[in-house]
Amino acid sequence: MTPVEALERVVHCLDRGFENGFKTKAFVRALDVIRSLPPEEVEERSANGTLKELDGIGDATVRLVKETFAGEHAYIDKIEAETQISMTDGGAAYMAAIRGDCHLHSNWSDGGATITAMATTARALGHEYIVLTDHSPRLTIAHGLDRKRLVDQREEIARLNEEMAPFRILSGMECDILEDGSIDMDNEMLDQLDVVVASLHSKLRMEKAKMTERMVLAAANPHVDILGHCTGRLIGKRPESTFDADIVFMACKQFGTAVEINCRPERLDPPRELLGLAISYGCYFSIDSDAHATGQLEWQPRGCDRAAERGVPMDKVINSWPMEQLLAWTKDKTLAA
Ligand SMILES: [Zn+2]
Ligand SMILES: [Zn+2]
Repeated sequence: MTPVEALERVVHCLDRGFENGFKTKAFVRALDVIRSLPPEEVEERSANGTLKELDGIGDATVRLVKETFAGEHAYIDKIEAETQISMTDGGAAYMAAIRGDCHLHSNWSDGGATITAMATTARALGHEYIVLTDHSPRLTIAHGLDRKRLVDQREEIARLNEEMAPFRILSGMECDILEDGSIDMDNEMLDQLDVVVASLHSKLRMEKAKMTERMVLAAANPHVDILGHCTGRLIGKRPESTFDADIVFMACKQFGTAVEINCRPERLDPPRELLGLAISYGCYFSIDSDAHATGQLEWQPRGCDRAAERGVPMDKVINSWPMEQLLAWTKDKTLAA
């Protein structure tokens, strides 16, 4: 392992552990510094104790680099152990069946890692494919992709797919559901995407009847495959949106739109009761990490635990299907619905 690889692994683990405070920022900064230096200089500075003179390098990095050159890994082992993701036996059965991840972000929008890093990590986790779902243009705060950038991104994906075959990066987008229930991307472009996640990111406090109508319109849109984090809650920070869940899940069932089981620890959306309701309507589900960093790709066990706890039928989990089946379904959801 090189010092850069060791630092990358530490950042991965901290992201996995959802440690997004000072410690992670310090390691990300240190990684930038170490990456920018010639490897010989890193080795020399580590040996003569001058690494810490560099801006952005703290004691922890000095120790990590020193250990790496000595072929030791006590520090990494500690961080690995502290950030392990636990899983129930029931969840493990779902995790074993899962072949991919249908909702994740790269640094093309508000993610922290390159498409290559996300894909390489997902492949190492045993996935057969990922769906890259960077944000749509309306979400300017997240550097959402307009049509032009989405076209550019699809070219990059095609290039990477040649390198990484048989692993596949599917092209997708997390589109905003606008106030009137329409989707923030033109139909011609949506037609070309493999998988479309539609989510609410604004006007989450809309009045119940209007919100229900807005969500039903999104679920009924033939381009929409997955309804992302449906209640919009952020645990401890933001309440669930108010909508008639019976009508929304009935629409998801009717139009064959999958309900996402979002695995982010601050979301875990839908909450248990609503998940039970969606199961009772016979909806499809997609257990997605919504990762914004490589470490967060390891979050699916949370959703798998939830799926096991509530008894989501395995054959309804769209990302447990072979990729060809998934793609045939997203092309024509009426067939399977
Ligand atoms: Zn989202
Ligand atoms: Zn997302």
